[in-house]
Amino acid sequence: MKNGWEAVIGLEIHAQLSTETKIFCSCATRFGDEPNANTCPVCLGLPGALPVLNRRVVELAARAALALTLQINERSIFARKNYFYPDLPKGYQISQFDRPFSEHGQLDVITAVRDEAGRVREWRPMQVRITRMHVEEDAGKNLHEGLPDTDKYSYVDLNRAGTPLAEIVTEPDFRSSWEAYDYVNHVRQVLRWVGASDADMEKGNLRCEANVSVRKVGDENFGTKVELKNLNSVRFMQRAIEYEIERQIETLEAGGRITQETRLWNEREGKTRVMRSKEEAHDYRYFPEPDLPPLVVSDEFIDGVRREMPELPAARRERFMQAYDLSFNDAAQLTSERELADYYEQAAEAAGNPRAASNWIRSELLRELEATKLNINESPVSAQELGRLIHLIDEEKISGKQGKEVLVEMFATGKGAEEVVRERGLEQVSDAGEIEGLVADVIASNPQQLAQYRAGKETLFGFFVGQVMKRSKGTANPQLVNEVLRKRLDEK
Ligand code: ADP
Ligand code: ZN
Ligand code: MG
Repeated sequence: MKNGWEAVIGLEIHAQLSTETKIFCSCATRFGDEPNANTCPVCLGLPGALPVLNRRVVELAARAALALTLQINERSIFARKNYFYPDLPKGYQISQFDRPFSEHGQLDVITAVRDEAGRVREWRPMQVRITRMHVEEDAGKNLHEGLPDTDKYSYVDLNRAGTPLAEIVTEPDFRSSWEAYDYVNHVRQVLRWVGASDADMEKGNLRCEANVSVRKVGDENFGTKVELKNLNSVRFMQRAIEYEIERQIETLEAGGRITQETRLWNEREGKTRVMRSKEEAHDYRYFPEPDLPPLVVSDEFIDGVRREMPELPAARRERFMQAYDLSFNDAAQLTSERELADYYEQAAEAAGNPRAASNWIRSELLRELEATKLNINESPVSAQELGRLIHLIDEEKISGKQGKEVLVEMFATGKGAEEVVRERGLEQVSDAGEIEGLVADVIASNPQQLAQYRAGKETLFGFFVGQVMKRSKGTANPQLVNEVLRKRLDEK
């Protein structure tokens, strides 16, 4: 980095665990319902209501912890984090403090070395220490509706209050905005993969905060950190960190100093601005939650969760490279989502050709899915049918070019590969006798061109090929046509 500066970044991620019901009551976690429809005395914070821990939260948190290499504490403690805000009717959030659910992760992440324009130059491994992952409840939402000068009013929607969250905190191990970017994407991918969270930042079920400081390379102490909030996508986060690093370096070089504060990213302006300073920071007065016993997780429970864990994306990527002879990039793309990796393996098997399956999915199929905004589970072309299509091409029943058109039609109509080929009369003619007949016809009906060709005008060869293809309506096997034509044209 310029003038010997170095950035130091630590991340906090809040991921909503994908349970059907809330963490301490049986209200639905479904969003988009009528405000305050999914509430009860517990999540409304009514006096005397008692929380009961949802077992599913513990299962999903355990999956997330194992996928992130965290050690699960046999015994963790829920704690009250006290503060006032209208979306928090109890006046405290049930979280965990000095005895979190899990700790001490060492995560291997692949990060890209990028050029100035953000283009990937090469990949390298990076280790990230995850300090802890604890579980807690979410707060509600304040909504501000109406237009100025009309019946404008604000209200609190508590549908989200009590939704389970996992908070994942790293050590300050990142040295660039792109390292942070690759880490968050890794966590998102893994959480989705194991079914712990939908991890969709757009829907707000994954939120992240970045802590950023700078120091001179070689300094042992960290600089004062600034916390960044309002990062609504991984890319926004990357840009916000980049801006903040620059701002801090410029401030320090101009002789100023960094104040510990929370800043909000404004994507439109491309700037961060102060939200609150450390002096205004809360003293949460954490204390153990008296209404909940310690959370005790047995070895048997953890073993049970471990047995149900799927092969993780990194392992699957490696296996794809070894077993199917795919490049890192191709294997990484095919393992970006578990459903896609499953689809790929099924298609590879059905086709009997893993390389071709990889190519067809990555280029043709993903393009169709992208264009129609469907995800792989919704693909009108099943893995088996894609496999059959590839098979038809490998057997030279149709050409690769025709295969692309067939796939588009399969995608649009949901028809099978063979059906489309039959309906379109595409089946490639590879019958030598039939092609001999076509060639003979074409030669007989073009005596003038034949004479010119035989007199040395070799460029006419293409003309004959074209005529034969036309006569066969494009179904003749081009290689065979070439062979037969050569033989017949060159015989005197
Ligand atoms: P706080 O008490 O303000 O919550 P923590 O020590 O709990 O601070 O750290 C919160 C997050 O900030 C962690 O992800 C941690 O890695 C990161 N962090 C701590 N110190 C620094 C620093 N000097 N620069 C960048 N990130 C930091
Ligand atoms: Zn409830
Ligand atoms: Mg802290």
